Order: sequence, then structure tokens, then C-alpha cells
Amino acid sequence: IHEYQAKMILQKYGIAVPEFAVFSTLEECKEIVKNSNLEQAVLKVQVHAGGRGKAGGVKLAKNRQEIFDFAAKLLGMQIVNNQTGKEGVIASQVIISPLVAYTKEFYLGAVIDRENATGVLIASKEGGMDIEEVAEKTPEKLLKYEIPLNGEFKETDLVTIAEFMGWKGKTLTQGKTIISALLKAFVEKDATLLEINPLVETATGDLLALDAKLSVDDN
Ligand code: ADP
Ligand code: MG
Repeated sequence: IHEYQAKMILQKYGIAVPEFAVFSTLEECKEIVKNSNLEQAVLKVQVHAGGRGKAGGVKLAKNRQEIFDFAAKLLGMQIVNNQTGKEGVIASQVIISPLVAYTKEFYLGAVIDRENATGVLIASKEGGMDIEEVAEKTPEKLLKYEIPLNGEFKETDLVTIAEFMGWKGKTLTQGKTIISALLKAFVEKDATLLEINPLVETATGDLLALDAKLSVDDN
């Protein structure tokens, strides 16, 4: 499923995401911009692959003209990277959201470990577009935690993870709630992967999911 669909699920589980809308034509984009009074925005292709930023599929627009120029560029764009195969994928939809000012980018994901057939929570305070490099070169920056079958961490485990992330005060409280909600969604959706990258901290200490990815085994 696409990012916007994954975000709808996160929202249902109480995880905060920036406002968003999806369009598939330039006319729809103009309508959204007019109705929402957007002056600056992030635009992202909706394709079944991650790594869109590095492939040119994420654009930060500083004014309305840039929004429309990027919209025209992204609609129909072909994305080719190591997650798409060499034929790539074509974007027929684009998500648009207000720009969020953040101070930190975290990674939070739940994934099925095929070898042990268990769920694993992976957390890192160095989230963002370079997470694969972080995992490869500095694996100690990732915390891995086995997910109990009922999908519920004990309070002590939540605190351990939240402190590993460096969260304090209300950020810590929000972070624990987000981890619990992510696990609940992961288990209830029978997902093989549910990740938030980046999960960002704003200047006011609030946590917000800027990107979401959900995969469900299709067999
Ligand atoms: P992908 O993971 O496919 O590259 P993301 O949605 O994670 O795509 O976007 C890539 C980067 O763009 C993020 O790591 C973040 O730095 C930036 N970004 C995404 N959404 C926003 C937003 N609403 N406001 C500001 N920056 C954003
Ligand atoms: Mg991302």
C-alpha cells in the first residue's frame, strides 16, 4: 500500500502525521493548494518503493509556483532504485503536505525476522534517508527488541527504548505511546513491515511521523 494509506492507518492508531492530500492531476493539485491555503509544501510520489528521496521523488517547494512545477514533474515520474527492479515504477499519484520544521529524525520500525519467525522492533536516533548506511556501517546505533506475541511491550521495555532514543519529558511520553501504537497496528494488520522513517521531533518536542511504510505478505 502507499504512504498515504499507511498514514491513514497510523492516524487510526493515534499516531500524529502531518496533514496530507493526494492528487493525480495538476488540476487537483491546484484545487488542494487553493482550498488549503498552502504556500510551501512537500510533494512525494506514491509508489510501492522506499528510497524515493534519493531517487528524486520527494520535493520541497518554497512557494506556489514551485508546488505546481514539482507536481507536474512528479506526476508520471519513473522511479528506479534497488527497491523497484530495473524497469522501475511510475507514479500516478502524489501526496502533498505542509513543510514540517524538525530538529531530529528518528527511525522506528517493526519487522518480521524470517529466520526466527518473530517480530522485531528496530529503533534508531539516526533516522532519515541514510538509515541503510547507518545499519550497515554503525549497527550499534540500532536497537533491536523482540516483539512479544501479543504485541505489547512492558513499561520497562518502553522506557528502555525511549531512553535509547534520547527522549525526555513529553517527548518520552509521546514516544512510548507511538511505540505501543505501532506494535498494535503491526500485529493487528498482520504486517511483515511497518516503519516510520523519519519520525521527527519538532522544536516544541512533539513527535510526528513524516513517512510511513506498511507491507503485508501477499501469500
Ligand atoms: P523516502 O523515505 O521514500 O525517501 P520520505 O517521505 O522519508 O521519503 O522523505 C524523504 C525526506 O524528506 C525525509 O527524510 C525528510 O527529511 C523530508 N521530508 C519528508 N516529509 C517532510 C515534511 N512534511 N516536511 C519537511 N521535510 C519532509
Ligand atoms: Mg522515508
